[in-house]
Amino acid sequence: MSPIIPRSEQLIHSISWQSELSGAINDLDSLLQYTGNKASDIEGLDTGHLSFPLRVPHPYASRIEQGNPHDPLLRQVLPLAAENHRVPGYISDPLDEASSNITPGIIHKYHGRVLLILTGACAINCRYCFRREFPYAENQNSMGEWQQALDYIRQDSSISEVIFSGGDPLLNSDKKLQQLTRSIADIEHVKRLRIHTRLPVVIPQRVTDEMLNWLTETRLQPVVVIHTNHAAEIDNQVTQALIRLRDKGITLLNQAVLLKGINDNVDTLKQLSERLFQAGVLPYYLHLLDKIQGAAHFDSDESSAQRLLGQLSAHLPGYLMPKLVREIAGEASKTLLLPLL
Ligand SMILES: *Cc1c(COP(=O)(O)O)cnc(C)c1O
Ligand code: SF4
Repeated sequence: MSPIIPRSEQLIHSISWQSELSGAINDLDSLLQYTGNKASDIEGLDTGHLSFPLRVPHPYASRIEQGNPHDPLLRQVLPLAAENHRVPGYISDPLDEASSNITPGIIHKYHGRVLLILTGACAINCRYCFRREFPYAENQNSMGEWQQALDYIRQDSSISEVIFSGGDPLLNSDKKLQQLTRSIADIEHVKRLRIHTRLPVVIPQRVTDEMLNWLTETRLQPVVVIHTNHAAEIDNQVTQALIRLRDKGITLLNQAVLLKGINDNVDTLKQLSERLFQAGVLPYYLHLLDKIQGAAHFDSDESSAQRLLGQLSAHLPGYLMPKLVREIAGEASKTLLLPLL
């Protein structure tokens, strides 16, 4: 006799991550309808043509509270007219990545770590994205071109860690990722493989058996850094996917972005850290927003952020405190901002 599987689980397992991806919500009317909102109830909506398209897979959209135009998950994906406002100081390449991007698909800014852009695309389009203006079209590598990245890593023995990034690197097939990982493992001086991804949060089915396999089959020490900004993004399915990674001995960290009106208060950040820990994840970075054109309405100023972290530290054990950082072009690492008590 086969065990009785709860209906919700049957559903989630019967839809592949690829189907969830291709079936993602990609227009405003569908998003509003799915979340029980009316355009007339939402102030400042951008109903025109979007240069940065709308994209929200259903597993993520299903966590948005019905009929709440201020829902913190909805706000991360909802296009607003404010994105089209030019605000002084907010520019298209605030990190000056163009100048560290000498070989296409490779960003080598920090000592010992090299970041590979495995795709420009993401499973979800976050409106505050720091890469919304990045020239990804020039960084679309096919596997053949990855030879160039491998040659680059091979000739620089100071590189001990390779980071798969994007876009979202897990949009690539497990087969491709396995080939690339095996080739990197053949380079002796590389010790760690890090994956920067939001997919386990956006479409938890992406954590496949094949993924667990390529991540753990080589001698490289695996680290997965997810991206989530609010506890409500981590439902049971996401927790199960993360626990599966954790059970394989993979180090799990989270980076969040401090977003005005979404998570810029003590309670929300406290709940985020606690929910992450329940799912086997430690908070890593809390990023101050990069000063990207079109995202100024999400930005908080530095000293309020530092005071917020000071208050947070009175509510959490030290190991659940994220490091508040800002990225400054030309610096040798992210810049740490201390909590103000
Ligand atoms: C943030 C970042 C890294 C990783 O930095 P860590 O401090 O090690 O997390 C590596 N390369 C680039 C280009 C980055 O922006
Ligand atoms: S998942 Fe990350 S890279 Fe992709 S759109 Fe969101 S913030 Fe940008």
